[in-house]
Amino acid sequence: MDSPSGVERYHACLLRELRHLVLSWVLSLRDNWITHASLGLPAPHLNYPLPPGFLFGADNRISEAIEWIHEYGAQQIHHRYLVTFGFGLTDSRPSAVSWGISSGDNSLACFRIPRVIFEDSSFEIRPGLVFAGILASLSHSEPVHLSRHVEEARSNCGDPFYFEEYTLHTVSNGRFIRRVGSRPVQRCQVWRCRAYLVYPGPHLCSAHSAEPDQTTVSP
Ligand SMILES: [Zn+2]
Repeated sequence: MDSPSGVERYHACLLRELRHLVLSWVLSLRDNWITHASLGLPAPHLNYPLPPGFLFGADNRISEAIEWIHEYGAQQIHHRYLVTFGFGLTDSRPSAVSWGISSGDNSLACFRIPRVIFEDSSFEIRPGLVFAGILASLSHSEPVHLSRHVEEARSNCGDPFYFEEYTLHTVSNGRFIRRVGSRPVQRCQVWRCRAYLVYPGPHLCSAHSAEPDQTTVSP
């Protein structure tokens, strides 16, 4: 493989610096949003200081000019990049929905949620989750996705109960980054059905609740 040219190295160095400054911008945006939401401060709209349509509405994007100065001996270079954070940026795959941060043609961060989770009406996507995913992507300099799996635990009496764990992973190699939440779930009562349902709630999955004759007793 050819070693990177001076221009490529310089470009990579600029992107690193830009990501670092964008990370500070997103952190301050998140802290500002938490402060407004938790103190109920007067604001022009409910999502302030995020755009009114955040996470998925028509007006869901926010932009910022990121600037810094590099000094080379007696010379100075003033860098200025317009970056945009919003829904559907940087990624157009049909199997997932995504939020991204981009500057021109450069994708700086990408957070994907698989469609199967996005379309699960029992799972509410909140701004805090999108902030966690975007911040993880900026820190790792690569796209990050949300994943979920069920874990079984045992009560003191030995009865099984289940938790759905939500975790962040890198897209390129699936490396675990961190856990972002969990909720209790229960198995569909139909013998051998593999569906898990939110607990508390109906005991039959949508496929089986439409079949009233189905046996619901496990041997
Ligand atoms: Zn079922």
